[in-house]
Amino acid sequence: MNSWVLSLCCALLMLAYPAAHADMPAVQPHVVVLVYHRFASTVDSTMTVRTQTFEAHLQAIEAAGYRIVPLADILRWHQGEQDALPVKAVAITVDDGHRSVYETLWPALRGRHIPVTLFVYPSAISNAAYAMTWPQLRELARTGQFDVQSHTYWHPNFRVERMHRSTDDFVKFARDQLRRAKMRIETEIGGPVHLLAWPFGIHDAELERIAQQEGYTAAFTLDAQPLQASQPAMALPRYLITDGCGGRCMTNILNAAGGNHE
Ligand SMILES: [Zn+2]
Repeated sequence: MNSWVLSLCCALLMLAYPAAHADMPAVQPHVVVLVYHRFASTVDSTMTVRTQTFEAHLQAIEAAGYRIVPLADILRWHQGEQDALPVKAVAITVDDGHRSVYETLWPALRGRHIPVTLFVYPSAISNAAYAMTWPQLRELARTGQFDVQSHTYWHPNFRVERMHRSTDDFVKFARDQLRRAKMRIETEIGGPVHLLAWPFGIHDAELERIAQQEGYTAAFTLDAQPLQASQPAMALPRYLITDGCGGRCMTNILNAAGGNHE
């Protein structure tokens, strides 16, 4: 190639580059939200994750280049704040308020800056033997590491409730579940409570509308996909994690979210 062709190429490249650069979308972060339930040294229920499995997940997250961020940061990005997230972000959520969060997860996390969002249903708290108490939740919230949000008031199966109720009664029931949970958690822990995890991942357009009317700004499902900016705020996906998903499985989830399929 003679020199004038080279110069022409360079000139064309220099002309093309700024235009292409200006039109290029901002780097799309890879965003994954995980949901856990119970923690123990042995698997004593289908929803229990062993602490050694959880540690393997944390190692896999670090090795894959992901940073664990508060769920609130993911929502700020979802609402349009471009630079709210690192390029690879993962959030940890824990549903149901099981006492092993206080007894097992918290000691495992102490001294490590790992934010966790807890979705609890108030009817169980300080009531069911398996659940945490309000003082325990307050203690966790005071650390600044745990954010306590809503999982409805008593964790109904909205599909079943809809079958057994009239249309009006169902709407009243759903509204009451969402409103009372938010009010109770805000009274006991402090607020604001504006995030919701759908019990059993069940939701539909009507429930989403009621949740918005009751002051929720985002709600989470169990749809096992990466979270994307284009997804509706009232149905954001999370990966349900059980003990059967070890370190390698976590690596696969994170790589798939980043487009690197193994
Ligand atoms: Zn649940």
